[in-house]
Formats: sequence, structure tokens, C-alpha cells
Amino acid sequence: MTDTDATDSEHHADPVLRQSQHSWASSPATRAAMQANRRRDTQPEIAVRRLLHARGLRYRVDTRPIPTVRHTADIVFTKARLAVFIDGCWWHGCPQHHRPPRSNSGYWHSKIERNRERDRRVTAQLESAGWCVLRAWEHQDSAEIAVQIERLVRPNPNLPSIPYSKRDY
Ligand SMILES: [Zn+2]
Repeated sequence: MTDTDATDSEHHADPVLRQSQHSWASSPATRAAMQANRRRDTQPEIAVRRLLHARGLRYRVDTRPIPTVRHTADIVFTKARLAVFIDGCWWHGCPQHHRPPRSNSGYWHSKIERNRERDRRVTAQLESAGWCVLRAWEHQDSAEIAVQIERLVRPNPNLPSIPYSKRDY
């Protein structure tokens, strides 16, 4: 993929936002099924994307920031070299919300630990390639996440100051 391709696609409208009035959340049951079956386009992600889009920011969705790191980020700003991950509280082991199930707890514990280890590894790989990585939890306020993103992509002294604290894994 060339830089030109990346730039072009950043100027296209977010496909989910474009169709959202019609197909997304047409019924609570449909939405629940979609959320259960798809790891992308989760509700917190869409809330953040909606805010970014309204602020005129353009980005790529669910793409690899760099080809050598075999992992996609949820929201990618190619030119600003910013990769955003909005991590699900359960699958990524949020200290506030992750509750291990009672059955198969050993299995789930090691699975979540592997996920966290992969998160750390991907973050380190991207950072060592010169990328900025923002990892947010899905429980965080989407407006605050969007402001953090905008401050990183488009530095502006008029934006409210929200300290960006790196994830303490
Ligand atoms: Zn959480």
C-alpha cells in the first residue's frame, strides 16, 4: 500500500457512520447479535468515531498502522502516525471491570493474560517504529477519548486540557 492510498482513504466518509441511521441498531436484538459476533465496530468505538468525524478529522478504521506489525488498530491516523485502540473491558482485562468467570477460570485467566501481553507487545512495536499509541478502555467517556485524540492529531491550545496518562498494564 502506498502513501497515496492511505491518504485517499482517509478522506472517504466513515462507512459505518454513513449507513448508521439505517442499518445500525435497527433493533436492540440485531445490535446485540452484531456486537456479539463482530469484534469491530463496537458501540464505544462508533461513539468516538462519530465525535471525531463531527470535528472534521478523517481516519482509517481497523487497519494495520504498519505492515510489519501484524495487528490492526481500531482508529488509525496515518499522517499523524497515531494508532488508537479502544479495548473491551472484559477481553483486555480492565482492572475495574474484568471479572473472571467461575467455570474454566484457569483457561480464561491465561487467555486474558495473553491478550494483555499482546497489547503490550503491539504497543511497544508501534512506539519503536515512531508511532504514538493511545489505548483507551471502552468504559471511558467517549468525548474525553475524542479530545485526547484530537489533541494528538491536531495540537490546538484552545482544546480543553485532559492529561494523557499511559496505560498502567
Ligand atoms: Zn473497564
